[in-house]
Amino acid sequence: MRQPDIARQTEKSAEEPYLSVHDLVVKFPSEDGVVNAVEGVSFSVARGKTLAVVGESGSGKSVTALAIMGLINRKSATVKGEVWLDGQELVDSNDNQVRKLRGSKMAMIFQDPMSSLHPFYRVGAQLGEAARVHRKISKAAARAEAIEMLSRVGIPAPKRRVDDYPHQLSGGMRQRVMIAMALINSPALLIADEPTTALDVTVQAQILDLIAKLQSEFNTAVILITHDLGIVADVADDVAVMYAGRVVESAPTSKLYGNPEMPYTLGLLSSIPRMDRERTDRLDPIPGNPPSPLRHPSGCVFHPRCKYKEMVPNNACAEVRPDLLEAEPAHFVRCHLPVETRKKIASEALNVSGGGATLGGTVSAAAAAAAAAASVQ
Ligand code: SF4
Repeated sequence: MRQPDIARQTEKSAEEPYLSVHDLVVKFPSEDGVVNAVEGVSFSVARGKTLAVVGESGSGKSVTALAIMGLINRKSATVKGEVWLDGQELVDSNDNQVRKLRGSKMAMIFQDPMSSLHPFYRVGAQLGEAARVHRKISKAAARAEAIEMLSRVGIPAPKRRVDDYPHQLSGGMRQRVMIAMALINSPALLIADEPTTALDVTVQAQILDLIAKLQSEFNTAVILITHDLGIVADVADDVAVMYAGRVVESAPTSKLYGNPEMPYTLGLLSSIPRMDRERTDRLDPIPGNPPSPLRHPSGCVFHPRCKYKEMVPNNACAEVRPDLLEAEPAHFVRCHLPVETRKKIASEALNVSGGGATLGGTVSAAAAAAAAAASVQ
């Protein structure tokens, strides 16, 4: 097997990526030592496509997103690697260059809209300001655009709601305002960081539908960050699973659900309730906790929690860092186990017998899990 460069390989495909991340590293100093938040992450996403970045809290998902957006303070943190957005490299660009792209070519929806919207300003004023920062338009035109965007994201009575303050809106409506603000300049890249975590189940589904609808309207490249593999199955084209600052498995969504190989991915999938199993079957949570980013384990970073490590000889799981290797076309896995052993383990763990029929069941189960707001955490 050969060493991959996922982003560069995707570049050669027919769908030219709008965003390519190559070997991104982010480190922060702290009183206790260096926080290794992101350790060599690579991926890419094309316009009109959705990449889901999945992992537990502390896996480096959000820090990766903040680094792409240029929102890491370079005076106190180290950011290395390459981030290419529409042909422009961002890591080596200065703050002013990146600031111009933020909001115009790329935008981010944050998890908690209440802490992202300013409580003292009406939502229309905040939306209008987002437009006027990047375009020379009058206040009246910006207000008209704000009303138009509120309408497009499904806020009822937008002409009245445009003068509301954030606290006058429900959680779902505030999240819609955040989406409107992110999209008001039609950015080609939208990063949605846990956009539905704070919302109830029905609103979660509405927000994901809304992002998908707007994505097809604007032909946006979307990165969906979540800890919940259940919500990914229906909306993502590709999935990158992160653990301890690294991508440990990545593949097109159907391959990842139909043929997961990395034991951590198996653990996430085993934690999702399945409609095709008896209700008496117990979920199989991943034992232990993610490692501290101050002290990542030696060898495979997942080895302290992996129940299959004894199957690899010579204590390699504890001593040798596995590379991310291409197990099959477009499917990359970071694990020392032989491919056939991984497939057998997955088959037993998930009752996946292989083939399209079972794959459909697995995806349906995950989608059903989404409907039930099942979470891997
Ligand atoms: Fe488990 Fe070893 Fe594979 Fe890591 S390399 S996931 S510890 S079997």
